[in-house]
Order: sequence, then C-alpha cells, then structure tokens
Amino acid sequence: MSVFTHIDFDHHEQVVYGHDQASGLKAIIAIHDSSLGPALGGCRMWNYANDDEALRDVLRLSRGMTYKSALARLPLGGGKAVIIGDPHTGKSEALFQAMGDFVDSLGGRYITAADSGTGVAEMQIMAERTRHVAGAGQREAFDGGSRDGDPSPSTAYGVFVGIQAAVAHRLGRSDLQGIRVAIQGVGQVGFGLAKLLKAAGAQLWVTDIQPANVQRAVEQLGATAVGQNDIYGLDVDVFAPCALGAIVNPQTLEALRAPIIAGAANNQLADASLAETLRRRECLYAPDYAINAGGIIDVCYERTGGSVAQLKAHIEGIGPTLTEIFQRAADEGVTTSEIADRMARERLQRGL
Ligand code: NAD
Repeated sequence: MSVFTHIDFDHHEQVVYGHDQASGLKAIIAIHDSSLGPALGGCRMWNYANDDEALRDVLRLSRGMTYKSALARLPLGGGKAVIIGDPHTGKSEALFQAMGDFVDSLGGRYITAADSGTGVAEMQIMAERTRHVAGAGQREAFDGGSRDGDPSPSTAYGVFVGIQAAVAHRLGRSDLQGIRVAIQGVGQVGFGLAKLLKAAGAQLWVTDIQPANVQRAVEQLGATAVGQNDIYGLDVDVFAPCALGAIVNPQTLEALRAPIIAGAANNQLADASLAETLRRRECLYAPDYAINAGGIIDVCYERTGGSVAQLKAHIEGIGPTLTEIFQRAADEGVTTSEIADRMARERLQRGL
C-alpha cells in the first residue's frame, strides 16, 4: 500500500502510522495542509476492513478539513485521525491513552477532536496525555449556562443561519415564518436545529430511526412525524439532512421535491456529479462543509479562548459565505460545490 501514489493523496504534508502493542492501538494521523495553522480534525474510530480503507478515509477526510476551515476563515489547517477498531467493542482507557501519546508525538501540528465512534469521554482520556485535544472540557453555553465540549449546538446554529441564507436566496424570503422544513435525523444537531426553526416560526416534518428522538420532536416542538422513506417526497421548502452521508443519490432524487437542500450531514452527495443534477433542477444545494462548519468554529474558539459572543458572530458568518457561494454559482452557471471549493482555495492562497 503506497501513500504517494494513492488516488486520494493530495500533497498531504504528513501521514503517520501509530501502533501500541499493549493496548492494541492501530491508528493513522494525516496532516493535509497547515499553511493557515495547526491541523485540526476529528479522531474517528471505525471497524475498517483493512488498512487501505483506513488510509483512504484519513487522506480524504483530512483534505476536507483543510477546505472546511479555510472556508470558515479559521486559523487552522486540515488533519484527521483514524483508529482501526470496533467502536462498540474495541474501546479501552489504555487505547485512548496510547492515542493521546500518539497525538502528542506530533508536538501540536495536529489537534484532535471527537468524531464518529468517539466522544467527550474519549477526548477526556486523551487529554490526560496531550494538550492537543479539543472538546474535552466544560464550555459556556449560548444561553449563559454551561455545557460539555460537544460542538453540536454550534453546528445546529450554523445550519440554521445557513437555511436563512438559502431561503433568502432561493425563495426571496427574509424570515422563516411558515417555511416548511423536513429534517432527516433529529439527533444532537437535528434536534437543536429543529428547536431554532420552531422558534423562528417554521413548520417541521421529522424522521429518525430512533423512535424516541422522533417522539421528542413531536411532543416538544409539534413536529409531524413521517416514515424514513417518506421524508424525501414531501412538499416542503427545505430538506435538511442531519443523519447520514450519501443521502442525495439517484434513488432519493427521484422523490426529492424541495427547492433547497441544506443540512448538517457530511458528504451528502453520493457522487460529486450530482451537484450538477441539482443545479439543473434548480434545487439550491448548500455545500455540506460550508453549512456545517459551526462545530469546527466552536472547537477553534475553545482553543483560542474567544467569548461566546465572538463565537456566535463567527458562526453567523456562515450566512454571508453561503450567500456569496449561491450568488457566484448563479452568476457563473456552475454548481455551488464548485464555487465553495474555489472560495476555500482562494482563502487558502490569500490567507484569511
Ligand atoms: P447524532 O448521531 O446525534 O444524530 C443523528 C441522528 O440521525 C440520530 O438520531 C440517528 O438515529 C438518526 N439516523 C441515523 N440513520 C438514520 C436514517 N437512515 N434515517 C433517519 N434518521 C437516521 O449525530 P449528530 O451529531 O446530530 O450529527 C448529525 C450529522 O451531522 C452527521 O452526519 C454528522 O457527521 C454531521 N455533523 C455533525 C457535527 C456535530 O457537531 N455534531 C458537525 C458537523 C457535521
């Protein structure tokens, strides 16, 4: 397995393999680009079928983090870590201590955070061994209270701001009163988003594979519950994917009717060419890594110690960034994904 000739190798600065025999740790850290600052990105734990699958994931995800942070105007580079192992059965304190040592060995060039398969508890274990970890401590909440390091409230707020920008651009509306939104997945981000939308006067339809999450949205927010496969065909203004990736695919596109797709899920398009299909259908797609940047902004402010007011203002910058993406895409007759990537590269080259 070669790194330099790998199809997903994109001039990554550093790719490091870590192994600890005592705990069984097998991990890879990739630093894609650190020209804007230290590389920050989550630590994913996944039962990869083989090392090559893990390498592919870490190369792609670290590159994505470079683009996400640059577009969000953060003084951060792009990096990612993957642990090869089952997140349900393979976790131990020793494993995450060893991972903390591995992160520490890079001397701060890579800062880790929670991702699929890891959470605040694992970040706290790693923080015993390295200070280059984000999302491990208590934070001030938007409402003045206290919360743990989970960035999902910030992600939800960024998606809310992004939906406002998309509605203004596509529907010419400056408020969300009566706007119909279908939310797929009312977990940490989706439910937070639902609360903000409800407070802004939107009407909500929700689905989830966890009945308790659906029930919470129905009981607390008056949302209408729909079946998992019925969420796509609804006559709504906005489809907000907040569950899984690859959710815009040829099958779902047959049913999808919403003129706007704007949600938190990562890698929403099953394949990049679908951005052009959406453009031709006049469906406004808010590029996922632009609209879901609230979480990385949150993590960055935790590191730099900015105030909640500064954090909120930075997240609100997602709105103007998306408006610029939408406008440039319309002016040039190209996809919003293409413009987002171009703007990220511009910010990388010119600096923030
Ligand atoms: P979560 O696990 O708390 O919520 C996801 C919800 O989706 C869960 O309630 C789950 O039951 C539901 N779900 C799973 N499969 C489903 C399906 N097929 N149909 C309907 N519902 C389904 O996760 P989260 O933290 O809310 O993240 C949601 C999405 O946003 C993920 O794709 C994540 O990668 C992305 N994201 C999250 C953050 C963050 O700060 N948490 C930041 C950026 C991106």
